[in-house]
Amino acid sequence: TGSMAKSKFEYVRNFETDDTCLRNCYIVVRLDGRNFHKFAEQHKFTKPNDNRALGLMTRSARSVIEELEDIVIAYGQSDEFSFVFKRTSTWFKRRASKLMTHVASQFSSSFVFYWKEYFGEQPLLYPPGFDGRVVLYPSNRNLIDYLSWRQADCHINNLYNTVFWTLVQKGGLTTVQAEDRLKGTLAADKNEILFSEFDINYNNESALHRKGTTLIWEKRDETVTKRMKRPNEEEKDVVVTRSRRKVEAYHCDIIGDQFWEEHPDILED
Ligand code: ATP
Ligand code: ATP
Ligand code: MG
Ligand code: MG
Ligand code: MG
Ligand code: MG
Ligand code: MG
Repeated sequence: TGSMAKSKFEYVRNFETDDTCLRNCYIVVRLDGRNFHKFAEQHKFTKPNDNRALGLMTRSARSVIEELEDIVIAYGQSDEFSFVFKRTSTWFKRRASKLMTHVASQFSSSFVFYWKEYFGEQPLLYPPGFDGRVVLYPSNRNLIDYLSWRQADCHINNLYNTVFWTLVQKGGLTTVQAEDRLKGTLAADKNEILFSEFDINYNNESALHRKGTTLIWEKRDETVTKRMKRPNEEEKDVVVTRSRRKVEAYHCDIIGDQFWEEHPDILED
């Protein structure tokens, strides 16, 4: 780069446009799997929820949070994951394209890298891709509402998919019949079908599927025993406690106030 710096070609750099994210805003990067309807079929995902795929998505998100800077919370469901950078982040001078592409490529490479841990011998048939977008939220309320919107989406889709696949798998309906049956039904109707016809209480279904996955940093005190030798002393075991940051996963409600009250250090004022 040293010799290129003064070349007559240097002026082309000025064609780069500024994409600095507005100061003081949370920067959200949302990824979504490209054509995962097909990807799910080709890789024989179980319906309505494949836990291997969800586990791999969460593993990949964890890699993003651990490898990149300043991500304070992430939320994922289906083939999507949202990552929130703290509002004071100056990582890559807040350049949207840098942040978004680092998230997307770290996530995609992790998805491939960890594939075997979740799918075992089942081969990955082709290289999957993820799109990314950047959205800025200026207030805590806006950010919580954003995450609530994604969790509400998870709930609506999962309730529909749960009834749909129950009608098919346990009710013996064809997919076309199940679709017809659910046309125009409200949430209460869907809950009622599950309960009265299949003895299923939707609220007892897996929290992972109903609520999605929230990842946050948590401080944990970790104690380790170290073998130590001081000058003029016998070698002995010493217990050392240190505070470590660890990414923790939750499958809980993030729409109500409780989660935010229990984790007051996620949001800044
Ligand atoms: P940044 O994250 O800012 O891009 P970087 O370490 O990737 O940091 P670059 O300016 O992109 O910095 O330079 C890439 C470096 O990677 C090169 O300077 C070189 O050391 C190394 N590198 C990349 N490709 C090769 C290669 N094919 N053979 C040898 N070294 C390489
Ligand atoms: P696009 O490229 O526009 O995002 P898409 O096919 O990925 O198209 P989405 O709206 O993102 O469409 O929906 C993702 C689809 O992937 C779901 O509808 C579902 O069929 C499938 N899918 C994703 N994750 C899972 C999972 N864990 N278990 C079962 N199916 C899944
Ligand atoms: Mg380079
Ligand atoms: Mg889509
Ligand atoms: Mg998709
Ligand atoms: Mg999607
Ligand atoms: Mg480089």
